Amino acid sequence: LNRRLAEFGTTIFAEMTALAVRTGSINLGQGFPDTDGPDEIREAAVRALRAGHGNQYPPGPGVPELRTAVAEHQQRRYGLVYDPDTEVLVTTGATEAVAAALLALLEPGDEVVALEPYYDSYAACIAMAGGTRVPVTLHPHDGAYRLDLDELRAAVTPRTRLILLNTPHNPTGTVLTRDELSAVAELACERDLLVVTDEVYEHLVFEGEHIPLASFPGMRERTVTISSAGKTFSFTGWKVGWITASPELVTAVRSAKQFLTYVSGGPLQYAVAEALRLPDSYFDALRADLRAKRDLLSTGLAEAGFGVYEPAGTYFVTTDIRPLGGEQDGLAFCRALPERCGVVAVPNAVFYDHRDQGAPFVRFAFCKRTEVLTEAVSRLKGLD
Ligand code: PMP
Ligand code: GLN
Repeated sequence: LNRRLAEFGTTIFAEMTALAVRTGSINLGQGFPDTDGPDEIREAAVRALRAGHGNQYPPGPGVPELRTAVAEHQQRRYGLVYDPDTEVLVTTGATEAVAAALLALLEPGDEVVALEPYYDSYAACIAMAGGTRVPVTLHPHDGAYRLDLDELRAAVTPRTRLILLNTPHNPTGTVLTRDELSAVAELACERDLLVVTDEVYEHLVFEGEHIPLASFPGMRERTVTISSAGKTFSFTGWKVGWITASPELVTAVRSAKQFLTYVSGGPLQYAVAEALRLPDSYFDALRADLRAKRDLLSTGLAEAGFGVYEPAGTYFVTTDIRPLGGEQDGLAFCRALPERCGVVAVPNAVFYDHRDQGAPFVRFAFCKRTEVLTEAVSRLKGLD
């Protein structure tokens, strides 16, 4: 293993899911729903397979049906107009979109300003692209994690090439506000930076609203917006994602994508195109369901003695284990939790460069059936 990757070891999600399987625990670690998305969308995938749509290599940028559906979605939800032919690229999940964007846009030694804690693939992809990550830490206070705009400004240097943003934010559940996004936009324009923004939880906002960064003045031409079907349609195994950006940026990202995967899963693209056209009632029901689950798990964790950072969005609630008494080390806590009570969670420390900042925090996923969450809470209340 080369030096660029050696520091990353095995992703925490694989480690914790393996632990859940081995111990037969409830897996609130890795963020995936335990029920599949809409039957009609699954049937659309079956129909595409049977009809031979996409069973051979689909077009490099993605099938036109999906590119058009992505463009329509951006216009319908946000009033953002993208040309499906030149400004949309289908990727193998948001994961490939992040990797391809960083590989395409970074020169060796370029600095990338990223919010910390960060989704784990960001650090590894910045490293694979030869870049240097510059974390800006979100600080917890009054039950929420917030971005300090002065710290963000101070992180930008003459070597900064891009800001890697994520809102709604994994793992903290923070949804950046209009004012925060506006400040990020102003900074990017003033310092002539690109922004790669990961908005995979765009439809999972329970408080406030999701505002795409690309909708701010001056941002459309310097922003690569990433999303995917996994979270929005509860098909995380399908790995269908996309970017929207200017033709120049799409061409750049595609230059990297063509040598990573060349193209992405054919028949599923047709099904995701149908999914993106579901009526607003689908998206509203998804959000309402997850909001109720967020409330159930947040309340239960608080009753079990955890400090709770109630998330405004995403699948995840971050907790502080110190109020449990004597607990300080989230990694050790998560490794022991399955044996102690049959529940798996993820230690936030692995999402930090400044590990001490994340040490006492642990993330639980609530994208699970109500009875599973209820059982998990009852087990956590029994922690000795
Ligand atoms: N970004 C964030 C913030 C995530 O939480 C995830 C996990 N869904 C991804 C990217 C990866 O998305 P995908 O499964 O579409 O590759
Ligand atoms: N995005 C999900 C999470 O944060 C799953 C990630 C993964 O398995 N790579 O839990």
